[in-house]
Amino acid sequence: MTEIATPAQPVAGPRPENPTLRDTVRAGAALLRQAAIDDPDLDARLLVQHALGLSRERLMIQATARLNQPQLDRVMALIRRRAAREPVSRILGHREFWSLDFLLAPATLDPRPDSETLIQATLDGIGDRRAPLRLLDLGTGSGCLLLALLQELPAATGLGVDKAAAAVAAAAVNATRLGLADRARFVEGDWCTGLTAPFDVIISNPPYIATGVLPGLQPEVRLFDPPLALDGGADGLAAYRALAQQAPALLSERGRLVLEIGFDQRETVTAILEAAQLAIDAVHPDLGGVPRCIVARRRAGAGVPG
Ligand code: GLN
Repeated sequence: MTEIATPAQPVAGPRPENPTLRDTVRAGAALLRQAAIDDPDLDARLLVQHALGLSRERLMIQATARLNQPQLDRVMALIRRRAAREPVSRILGHREFWSLDFLLAPATLDPRPDSETLIQATLDGIGDRRAPLRLLDLGTGSGCLLLALLQELPAATGLGVDKAAAAVAAAAVNATRLGLADRARFVEGDWCTGLTAPFDVIISNPPYIATGVLPGLQPEVRLFDPPLALDGGADGLAAYRALAQQAPALLSERGRLVLEIGFDQRETVTAILEAAQLAIDAVHPDLGGVPRCIVARRRAGAGVPG
């Protein structure tokens, strides 16, 4: 009988009545389907791979190998977590963003593909990608926005700020893992409080969900994303008001403020920014065609720091 040798644990006597890898993926998928999980087949496969330390190729090659009991237990523990709505990315502990691998922590928002819109929008607005640009990421979470930009801008340096100490720590680990630690610094802070240097790019995916809407979010978000990264106050716009007040003074002369917005916030956020010292440069849609990113600059005539 073929045995599954996993890096984590060499096989100890699978019984002939134990399920094969293929059976296990199917059974896991059936349980996830029962729990109304969106993509049960994919999730079951990823969780089986993760539980057993198998690449997709090994999983297919060894499809008829049987699991031993500890292996089966490890798989089922992960399937149960997914059935309880924990996202696969949280169970695996990491998520790909802008083709880079980010470790997640309970204090970090799970990066969304939609937020890649902000990276593209920022890069579109930069003439010389080799310039020594100064970047600021407010509410950095996993550090995904700042680190993706540093990856694309080889002479840039960046500061990431987050209210949550555990997010700051996670972002710093991500910077090291991605080989970007020499150009990235992460500190605890409350938006722009205490910051002075002018920045060429200020980027942020702030919390923008209205408090009253939070209880209706899907469980994957409501139960597993940190409330601090989601809760935008009574109307969902509290963070934009703070940023509109504080960010202009930190923008360099040609600096840009790049903000993620909720699907219905284009007009309201535009009004908040224009009521401060800012003018709208561009609004970028995400891949679903929803306005997702607003780029603003300081209005002519507003004071310019050094
Ligand atoms: N895009 C996230 C969601 O809709 C919200 C993230 C945020 O508030 N910045 O779940």
